[in-house]
Parts: sequence; C-alpha cells; structure tokens
Amino acid sequence: MKSPIPDYLSGIMDSCAADVSGERAAYIPELAAADPDRLAVALCTVDGVVYAVGDADAEFTIQSISKPFVYALALAERGFSSTLDKVGVEPSGDAFNDFSLEPDTGRPRNPMINAGAIATHSLIGEPGAGAEERQERVLAGLSAFAGRRLEVDERVFASELETAHRNLALAHMLRSYGIIEDDPVEVVRGYTRQCSVLVTVRDLAVMAATLANGGRHPTTDVQVISARVARQVLSVMTTSGMYDAAGDWVTTVGIPAKSGVAGGLLGALPGQVGVATFSPRLDKHGHSVRGVQLFRRLTDDMGMHLMEIPSPGQAVLRKVRTFDGPHGSSMVFQLQGRLGFTTAEVVAREVVEQAPTTDRVIFDVELLYKVEEVGRVMLLEVCRRLSLEGREVILLDSEGVLPNPVPGSGATLKVVTSREELIGLASADQ
Ligand code: GLN
Repeated sequence: MKSPIPDYLSGIMDSCAADVSGERAAYIPELAAADPDRLAVALCTVDGVVYAVGDADAEFTIQSISKPFVYALALAERGFSSTLDKVGVEPSGDAFNDFSLEPDTGRPRNPMINAGAIATHSLIGEPGAGAEERQERVLAGLSAFAGRRLEVDERVFASELETAHRNLALAHMLRSYGIIEDDPVEVVRGYTRQCSVLVTVRDLAVMAATLANGGRHPTTDVQVISARVARQVLSVMTTSGMYDAAGDWVTTVGIPAKSGVAGGLLGALPGQVGVATFSPRLDKHGHSVRGVQLFRRLTDDMGMHLMEIPSPGQAVLRKVRTFDGPHGSSMVFQLQGRLGFTTAEVVAREVVEQAPTTDRVIFDVELLYKVEEVGRVMLLEVCRRLSLEGREVILLDSEGVLPNPVPGSGATLKVVTSREELIGLASADQ
C-alpha cells in the first residue's frame, strides 16, 4: 500500500497553486530572480519520518528562519539570564526590520526581529572569540538541527552584505547601548552569513521537528538543545515568530512558527510534528502567501491548533479489575499513555472512589509510554498514602517505566517485574 500522506499533501498543495498573489523579496537581485512558482511542503514526525512533496529538494536561503535556532544556541551556550539580559521576549508588534528597542536599555524586544537576532548572533561563541569562530559555530549549530552539513550561498551573502545598511544601523545602535560588545560591522557580517545558509523544505521540517521533539533530533537522535531551551524557543516563536502578524497567525493557525524572506515557512507542533513550506511570493508582512494558506489548511484538516489539544486525562485508565481471595480483596489499576498532572489526578481520584477499603492495590504501569516527573511523584504519593493506611501496594513494572519507585517514609511498595509473578501472588490468595 502507498501511504496516503504524500497524496494528501500534494492535494492541498495543488489547491493553492493557482494563487500567484504577493511579490518576491526584491532587496537583492538573487531573491528578486527566484523562480516564483516553486512550491513545496514537508512534514517530519517526532519519530523521524519525513513526507515531502513538490519542489522538496530545491535549495533556498534560510533567512529569518535561522533566528529561532541561533536563539536556541545562544540560550544553550550562555544560559537564560545572560541571554535575557541582552534580548527580551515581548512581542514588538512591528515589522521584522523595525528598530523596536526598549527605550531605556536599548534591549531589542525579542530575538525574532532583526535587532534581536543581530544581538543574539553576537552571543554565540566565547566572549572575544572573534567573528570567524562565531560564524563556524552558527553554521555547525544550524547543521546539527538539520542533521546534515549545511552551506552558505556566497552570492546571496555578498549581495545582502552590500545592501545591509539598515541592519548595520541597528547594529551600531545596539553597540551604542552596549547590547553588543563586538564590532557592529563584523556582527552584521556574521548575521548576514547566518541568513544566507542554504536549506530545503525537508531540512526545515526536520529542524522544526527537533524543536517539537524537546530538542532531540528525530533521526540522528542527538540532543541538540535541552528540552527547556526548546520550550523557550517555541514560546517566543508563538508570540513573535510572525512579527506584526503574530496575533492573526496564532488565532488562525495556532502553531509556533517562523518565516523567511526567501519564501520558507516553518512550524513546530510540540510533541507531534515539524512542518515546512516553500513558495517565494510574500505578503506585506514578508510571509510566503501560499505558505500561510498551506498552514491554514493543514491546521484545520489535521486539528493541529495548539488550543485544540485533546484532553489526555480520561484515557489513562485502561482497565480496573477487582478480585477477592482468602487474604482479602485486590484491585488492579492498569494505566496507559502518558502520566502527567492531569492523568495522575484521574488515577488519584479513581483510587479514592473505587478502592476505599480494598486490602491490596496493584498499579500495572506496563502500558505507560511517558512518565512526567509530576506524574511519578503523584503516583508514589498515592502509593504512600495507601500503604500508610495499611494496604498492600504493588507495582507491576517489568521495564522500569516508573523510575525510582520509592514511596517515602514509613511506606512500602512492592515492585513486581512480571505478570507471572503477580499472578503467583494473586493466586496464592485464591
Ligand atoms: N536577511 C534578511 C534581513 O536581515 C532576513 C529577513 C527575513 O527573512 N525576514 O533583512
């Protein structure tokens, strides 16, 4: 059987192919001469399956889509507080190349606008390490997100640099406020090189999936950045990734996203997928016209909007069984899926309601695929309380799904590693 997913992607791509509205970026000849009809969509799941249709292997410059990734690198290298000292996290509501500096401090409002991205770029590498090293680290970092060595389009780089007057003005302003400490001309050179890195729509989908996957690359399995950094980056993409169209984007599409003036657009749905589109004609905000349309279709068809995530709570209890034996009554709670706060709350509630006097309570956690720390702590607290009431508490966990199953002072929790062992225990009663 052929997977239906590429056919679906081709279908939505065809449905918006006829729209030729918008204009290519015209500030450098290379972008102005791009083939305007190019169109591609790619989707990468967090477990590393890539579906790509259209001009999926066409290369184009990453431009502003580099910003969230370099922000991630800065957070990873410098830490949160040093990075936040230099670049804020408030949406500016302004265009990408607006000055948008805080009046008193000169700190750029966020890392998605050019001012913030230039400041962020300057944070890469050891202080004083020099422009060359910084550029190499940025290229290596972007390549780690893509899972392959990326290259710079030297012609785009040279053209961009010739016309980088506004970015140079921004960098000099930042230097005057002490936000950047290096030579502003060198920093803009590096930032411009960062924008001139060549990618395909496939690369972008994989890069987005790395963010969606808590910073772990979906195919190379490398932890490129920590989950905490990925969370920070996705949050800033949600509020500022689409500049002065951020509110419209978040209400209609609802996926953390970033666009670039070469026509790329990328979105990362946490825990699920990375999506990317490529089509060079841009709207007045500098976002790809057909890219925005494709994302709207995808989000509606696939239920991807962040505010529509279904409740996981009710599915956590797969089965609750009771049986009686000569040494009293037992109740087995078979859990499945993810154990976080809302799911552990359901377990705690059901134990209170269903096992008020049961002598023995068994938690079968074999089918849990993810245990959040809060879920672990809550389940162990339930075990502790049951044990202190004098019940026998047993955990069926052959693969160590629940790490460190120690319920705390005065309580006992017996861990059983096979169903046979559990049946042995139960039938000893019968
Ligand atoms: N290189 C462009 C610039 O800094 C990138 C802008 C963008 O993609 N929005 O002006």
